[in-house]
Amino acid sequence: MCSLELPKSVIKQIDKFRKNCLWQGAEINARKPPKAAWKMVCASKEDGGLGVINIRKQNEPLLLKNLHKFFNRMDTPWVSLVWEKHYRNGRLPNHIKKGSFWWRDILKLLPKFKNFTRVNVEDGQSCPFWTDNWAPNAPADAAPELYSFAKNKSISVHTALIAENYSDFFHLPLSQEALTQMQDLVHGMEHMTLTEDRDKWSYIWGSTSFSSSRIYRELMDHPVVNQAYKWIWKCPCQPKHKVFFWLLLKDRWSTRNILRRRNMTLESYSCVLCNTNVEETLEHLFLHCDFARQCWSILGIVIPPNSNFPNIVSTIKVRLQSEFFMVAIILMIWSVWKARNDLIFKNIRPQVQNCKANFFIELKLVLFRVKPSLLTSFELWLHNLTASQ
Ligand SMILES: [Zn+2]
Repeated sequence: MCSLELPKSVIKQIDKFRKNCLWQGAEINARKPPKAAWKMVCASKEDGGLGVINIRKQNEPLLLKNLHKFFNRMDTPWVSLVWEKHYRNGRLPNHIKKGSFWWRDILKLLPKFKNFTRVNVEDGQSCPFWTDNWAPNAPADAAPELYSFAKNKSISVHTALIAENYSDFFHLPLSQEALTQMQDLVHGMEHMTLTEDRDKWSYIWGSTSFSSSRIYRELMDHPVVNQAYKWIWKCPCQPKHKVFFWLLLKDRWSTRNILRRRNMTLESYSCVLCNTNVEETLEHLFLHCDFARQCWSILGIVIPPNSNFPNIVSTIKVRLQSEFFMVAIILMIWSVWKARNDLIFKNIRPQVQNCKANFFIELKLVLFRVKPSLLTSFELWLHNLTASQ
């Protein structure tokens, strides 16, 4: 991935195996549909996803590192070879793609590389005058009218700065607007002097160090998400509980409401924990059902009417006043889900006492996963919770 652009078919095959790992377990040929869209899974945990790497997007920053080496003229044989073979006499990489298939693939990423970089001009030989961000913005953007008169749109900053007569670079006569833009541009360049050093390329995050992880993050979308998504991954619950709750917040957990929306035919879509004939939606099953309300009362919580996910998480956080609020929420919901499944699949009548017992069993198991620095406060919280029953 650091050297070659992975073919789409290869990425598709790798993703197929990764999706199987996530949703099908050991059964490679199972026909269970994925519980969540792949794009959702590949979003970072801060952006409400599972943080699974998007291979296609990860491939690009790794390849961009070659352009970093190229423009900073790293002391590597291939860098010298490419400069010497294709870009002698002041020529620069541009839209004309020359070279091996490998270099042509790398050049496809040139616009993206330029989006992330700024040039500190030294000798001006690696920096295109018109299209790179060196002044500090590209003159093609700052002076578009003047740019439209340019004879050679791929000259380097070096070529432009050593010129004696700027008018040689343009188709004359210039329009009045272009003339004004040229005077502004020349005025801005008056203080500039070329040196013997190589140009230095820095990145939009203010460093000259290349960071593929930083570019990967920049390439991904960053939707505004509820804070609950960030809290999930910081709590010490088991991963299966965390993924269960993540799916639940995404409204992808297999309640009867979801099964109906997936066109699955069931005898009834009503909640099995109460006899109210209400459809088993996420909010009903885990928040508003009588059974769920009794379970929440174990923690001293009264669920406000019309509460929904994920907003209810913040409400319960305020009510519990404990840094372990997420453990309590996830395990209480897990216990309600278990009571519901025990009734459907094992015909065990749901009882709040059983749900409570199950909740405390799971809670005590978290003792083995809490960070040593938090162990004492977790034990105290657990002790107080048990004592209040
Ligand atoms: Zn119900």
